[in-house]
This record gives sequence, C-alpha cells and structure tokens, in this order.
Amino acid sequence: MKTSLTELELSREQQIAELAEFIAEDYGTGGRVEPASIARKKNITHNFGYYKNAFDGMLEFYDKRFHIYLNLSRLERYESPRARFTFAHELGHYFIDEHRNALQSGFAPAHFSVCEYESDNLVEREADWFASNLLMPQTHFLRKAQESQVGMKGVLEIQRYFNTSITSAMLRYAQSGVAPCVVMKWNANGLAWKKQSGHEVIQAFRRPVEYPQYLPENSPTLWALRGAKTPAHGFFAAHAKAESWFPNLKDASLRDAVFIEQAIRLGQFGVLTLLYLAD
Ligand SMILES: [Zn+2]
Repeated sequence: MKTSLTELELSREQQIAELAEFIAEDYGTGGRVEPASIARKKNITHNFGYYKNAFDGMLEFYDKRFHIYLNLSRLERYESPRARFTFAHELGHYFIDEHRNALQSGFAPAHFSVCEYESDNLVEREADWFASNLLMPQTHFLRKAQESQVGMKGVLEIQRYFNTSITSAMLRYAQSGVAPCVVMKWNANGLAWKKQSGHEVIQAFRRPVEYPQYLPENSPTLWALRGAKTPAHGFFAAHAKAESWFPNLKDASLRDAVFIEQAIRLGQFGVLTLLYLAD
C-alpha cells in the first residue's frame, strides 16, 4: 500500500494549479468548464470508443495534430464525471509544456493515461492535478466548499456543482484544508491510498486499518465494501471511535476521540471513506 500520494514539489504544484485556473477563467464561467470546448478552441480533436481496459484516455500527436481518445469501456458515459476528469487530464498533457514537448519531440508518440489517482507516475499525477484544478479552480472551489455542509454531503454538493468525480472532489476537499479530515480509497484488496488534511489535530491519526477484516462490524466502509444497500442520500455513515480506525494510538484521549465515518461506493472503482472529527 502507498501510505499517501507522493506529493508533487510545492512550487511545481502551485504552477500547475495556476495554469489550470488561468485556462478555466479563460474558457469557463463561474469556475465551471467544458473540456470539449477547450479542446475545440485549441484544434484538438477527440473521439470516444471502446478500448477495453488498456487506458482511460490517450493524447496522441500524429501528423502535426493532437487527438484525444477517450475509452468508454472505463468511463461509462460521454458525460460521466470520470469522462470529464479524464478529458481534463488529457488536456493537462497538452497544456503542461514538458508533457506537450515530450509528445511533439516524438520522444513519446502517444500518452496512455490511467487517471484519477490510480497511477504513481509523476507525469500522471501532474495531469491529475491539472485536471482537478481545471474542473475545480482554486478560488471557486474554496468559495463553494465554504458554503457547503461539512462532510460527504458537502463533498457531493461540490462534486455536483463542478460536475467532477467524487474522488477528485474528495481529494481536493482534504487538500484544501476546508475541514480536518482523512480520505481513504479502498479496493477489493484493502486500502489503496489515503490523504490527510494538513491540520495539526489530524496529524496524530497516521496509521489506519488497512484491511477490511480488521474493521468493526458497524463500519460504514465495511458495509460499502460488502455491497450493502446504499441509503437514499447516497452514502453510509456512523460514528467511529478513533481506536477502531487507528489501533496503534497510544494516547488514551486520542483513542477515545470520535470520528464521523462516511463511505461511498464508486461502482467498479471501489469505496471512498471520509473520516472527520465529530464535535
Ligand atoms: Zn495521463
């Protein structure tokens, strides 16, 4: 398991965020953009097709032209949030100079992408970060996050407003520091990755349970992983003692801390858990 997403270097991260926000301001309204219209304005063609499991998206440079392939076998629908995220990710490979130059130089004739934080590759993480900031530009994201409810409900409001994926909205939620929280992504094998907000209070909670068999029977994450019927509001929720999630905690007051645990199923892509401190 990766203990966290390896961080991009801060200045680089800032640069890419600013580039994406600049493009979003240029081509969008109210912080909401349409990746296809950005591509059109840049004379980048695209098509949707069924390419099995080979990639989510691909940016190709051929005969002096850029073309984006989007794989419906993994993106479900043309307008699915995951398709939008992948489209934005491919635009990242175009707008980030180093990525585009590598393609144009013929060093890498086509770029196959696996999006949405499933890849550990630096180039992929940069394109994911670009996509996140293109679809949820910083200023607009913070405004929307501050007027939304705390927790999963708020994340889903943000996700719907920006029409982006739940995973990307959730990660930005943790990264932006709107609320002290831990975000975890699960697949059939257990914990795939986690991300903590930068708050000091949350830094004490470092090593969560990594396998479903160690989760308590009343854990929303466990219900979601087992495929229980999802409640009408879209996710599972319950209170959780910190010690059930962080068995290595030594300090008694930390062990007794109470989290709100919320878990949501991501179809074929596993389960996402949000933990934040109950007040
Ligand atoms: Zn990529």
